[in-house]
Amino acid sequence: MKTDVLILGGGLAGLSTAHHLGRLGTSSRLVVEARQAVGGTAGSRRVGGFTFDYTGHLLHLHDPYGRDFVLDLLKDNVASHDRRAWIFSQGTYTRYPFQANVRGLPPASVLECVAGFLETVHRPRPLAKAPDFLSWCRATFGDGITDHFMKPYNEKLWRTPLSKMTTEWQGRFVPKPTASEVLYGALSDQNKLFGYNASFRYPKRGGIQSLPDALAARLEPGVVRLGARVSAVDLREKVARVEGLGEVRYERLVNTLPLNEFLDLASPLPSRVKEARRRLRWNTVWNLNLGVARAGVTDKHWIYFPEKKHPFYRVGCSTNFAAGLAPAGHSALYVEIARPGGARVDTAKLESAALKGLRDCGLLRRRDELSARAWMPVPVGYVVYDFARTPAVTAILRYLGGRGVESIGRYGAWKYSFMEETILDGRRCARRLTGRADAPGRAHAGELRPLG
Ligand SMILES: Cc1cc2nc3c(=O)[nH]c(=O)nc-3n(C[C@H](O)[C@H](O)[C@H](O)COP(=O)(O)OP(=O)(O)OC[C@H]3O[C@@H](n4cnc5c(N)ncnc54)[C@H](O)[C@@H]3O)c2cc1C
Repeated sequence: MKTDVLILGGGLAGLSTAHHLGRLGTSSRLVVEARQAVGGTAGSRRVGGFTFDYTGHLLHLHDPYGRDFVLDLLKDNVASHDRRAWIFSQGTYTRYPFQANVRGLPPASVLECVAGFLETVHRPRPLAKAPDFLSWCRATFGDGITDHFMKPYNEKLWRTPLSKMTTEWQGRFVPKPTASEVLYGALSDQNKLFGYNASFRYPKRGGIQSLPDALAARLEPGVVRLGARVSAVDLREKVARVEGLGEVRYERLVNTLPLNEFLDLASPLPSRVKEARRRLRWNTVWNLNLGVARAGVTDKHWIYFPEKKHPFYRVGCSTNFAAGLAPAGHSALYVEIARPGGARVDTAKLESAALKGLRDCGLLRRRDELSARAWMPVPVGYVVYDFARTPAVTAILRYLGGRGVESIGRYGAWKYSFMEETILDGRRCARRLTGRADAPGRAHAGELRPLG
């Protein structure tokens, strides 16, 4: 089998690349997807009468093209929501973001947070040019906010000492309030929506799976092959071995598989690339979905849990985004637990710890009946931004670029990003491949020629 562009993975990055290539006149393209459905991490599973996503997948639309594109795909199947996000710590709920809403915590903790923040204003700490995340938190938010939330929460999520992490990823994701906002939020209930996810959209029906399904429906029949797992790629001969299809020859390759997994399938790789591959770190998100036989388990959309005594870092209630995700009279919860990538996990033990944690904080009641439970882990969940990440990714992408390979999306480009950006990554990739290039990424500069 032969194709001009072979696209590995039928998540949003792969589908968007195929769609935009088609719009730019490249009809010879093939998406090979290992699973029996498109969507990847932005997919959903039906379990009993419930629709579960791979944890909460909320649409944050910031780019005019991205917004119009997504809204056109979903048509009337989308609703807008103002975030109801909270933090549970020291036995009480405070509003997200923690740093702007410490009212409600014990007075001693409020004092530590506010005094620490004010100290950063009056006696700014010197910071290195490329500081580690922990020093940056202490300099930006002060010791109180860092010790009560930033440090314990982020350690639970990233499973990496924060002193080994960079700040490259946090610009869009960690909101920074002003001193008056911190003060106001310590004194009163500040219902102000901070940050990149202050409001969001979500499909009314069908879970987030509706989005990749709608995108795939725009492709001609045969462009996407499901159940087509790639097991090897020969970068020199430009041929991939694909389950059910045998050898597929290509002119150009677009990878959207996690970079570590792709490199394990690809050859030849020079030793500097193999060495860079060994430096990649990630976490696995162990996502437990629960169907609870009680409506209105909580009125919140999601809750952050910084304390060690709760095994999860976040719990969300997806029926508060779309009631139809559960049968009438039921709620659907997603529980997110992170472990270092590749670590072994005893899910039975983790599940009883998670259920105990949910009862301890009052989200579940003793007598609650669970009508459904499903583990839906994301093996490569969050890419860890330690100090080795960027030099390693740059070396890998430069080599792949030289071999005519684009590696894109949240996992192909090994970055922290979200669905809209992933769709835009596919568009940018299609434009580069067809010579309508936006400026090529640094790693690709001068190395990629457009398709003939
Ligand atoms: C816990 C979590 C929560 C998130 N929440 C949000 C959110 O609220 N809002 C938001 O906008 N974004 C969110 N995201 C990010 C969002 O999921 C991603 O940006 C997006 O789905 C990434 O798409 P992708 O195509 O790059 O990768 P993927 O979706 O991972 O696609 C890769 C595809 O490759 C396939 N594949 C893997 N191996 C093979 C193989 N050997 N052969 C063939 N196919 C293979 C996979 O099955 C998959 O379909 C979240 C991510 C996580 C992990």
